Amino acid sequence: MTSLEQMDRAELQMFYEAALKEYESCKAKGLKLDMSRGKPSRAQVALSNDMLNIDVVSNAVTDGIDAFNYGGLDGLPICRRFFADTLGVKPEQVFVGGNASLQLMYDTIAKAYTHGLLHSEKPWSKLDKIKWLCPAPGYDRHFKVTQAFGMELITVPMNDDGPDMDMVEKLVAEDPAVKGMWCVPKYSNPDGIIYSDEVIDRIAHLKPAAKDFLLMWDNAYCIHEFDGEFRPFRDILTLCSEAGNPDMVFEFASTSKITFPGSGVACFACSEANMAYMKKLISAQTISFDKINQLRHALFLKDRATALVHMKKHAEFLKPKFDIVLEYLEREIKPLDIGRWHTPKGGYFVSFFTIPGCAKRTNQLAKEAGVVMTAAGATYPYGIDPEDSNLRIAPSYPPVEELKEAMSVFCTCVKLAAAEKLLAEK
Ligand code: PMP
Repeated sequence: MTSLEQMDRAELQMFYEAALKEYESCKAKGLKLDMSRGKPSRAQVALSNDMLNIDVVSNAVTDGIDAFNYGGLDGLPICRRFFADTLGVKPEQVFVGGNASLQLMYDTIAKAYTHGLLHSEKPWSKLDKIKWLCPAPGYDRHFKVTQAFGMELITVPMNDDGPDMDMVEKLVAEDPAVKGMWCVPKYSNPDGIIYSDEVIDRIAHLKPAAKDFLLMWDNAYCIHEFDGEFRPFRDILTLCSEAGNPDMVFEFASTSKITFPGSGVACFACSEANMAYMKKLISAQTISFDKINQLRHALFLKDRATALVHMKKHAEFLKPKFDIVLEYLEREIKPLDIGRWHTPKGGYFVSFFTIPGCAKRTNQLAKEAGVVMTAAGATYPYGIDPEDSNLRIAPSYPPVEELKEAMSVFCTCVKLAAAEKLLAEK
């Protein structure tokens, strides 16, 4: 097949008309399909139903703490040990909170504003300007958190091995207003990229001008392989500590995509000095979190090895769906050379890049044909993709037959938007 760029005007016109016809017939089907959010399917969440049958009553007291009563602000030791084993850190470095890591992330930044962090001279709310590094494409909700506090968000390009570290090192070292950075080191949302060892070393060795620089290390997909074996990852707390930055990093994780999203358990991990500082602040906020849910999760998931067995069951549902997405892209888009994408082995997304200037149009066409996707631009700070190119495909939730239909519509929309653009240029 000739690539779209190589077609002359007449060929392109014919291609456009065929794509339009295909699109009109998609539209006539009156579909209602959703590929917008990275949610486990119904069958996947059912994998954890047995957790609800665990006898928590007989196991109420563990390590001398009664899960059925107040106490244990930093979480049940049994649950701290689960997260410590999973993240490769020490139990005393883990704080187990409530149902969602995003809430802990927001709260960490909120505390920087209200009280300051361990090494802050004053609360961030007293500063004129705060800047934040946002590797992009990235997770829209991360960007929203920092935007909600009125920070200036700085887009850092994502390379195949992680954020552009030349840019990060320069910005961080030169400007004390740069107070932090979002990172999803394993199976990044949406690209599915694993940061290389070199990138991680450079991050740990940053020399920030801001003494209270905050590295938000969101390890949301730390054990979330759907293709192949578990890929070990490095302990960022130790690396930062060895690099002379022990208090720079907060690591986050949750069971949202292990058990029940919204009803899982979340944690942060940090240096012991940060832990003491944060515990004091959090103790003014709550007496303790939901320890019954912590107990259920700890008894069900036990340790990393047991959790990995459970993740294999998720993979059985996820892998075929990612295969479908990639098959459609390979077959429908690749020969035309009107898009590129990553092929992740874990996480929840396929990051797709249209030819520049076509993401919004593709998204709009898909919406009008009944296929809802994450808004174009959402993967960039302020929702503005400078190239108007990136689209996030979330294949996990729809059943296989619906996903096939949604991908067929999506590919038609990519073709139509590209043909419109190239025709207008010729
Ligand atoms: N971090 C990343 C990178 C995510 O992709 C998601 C979910 N899409 C979350 C955090 C949300 O996690 P939680 O449910 O623990 O807030």
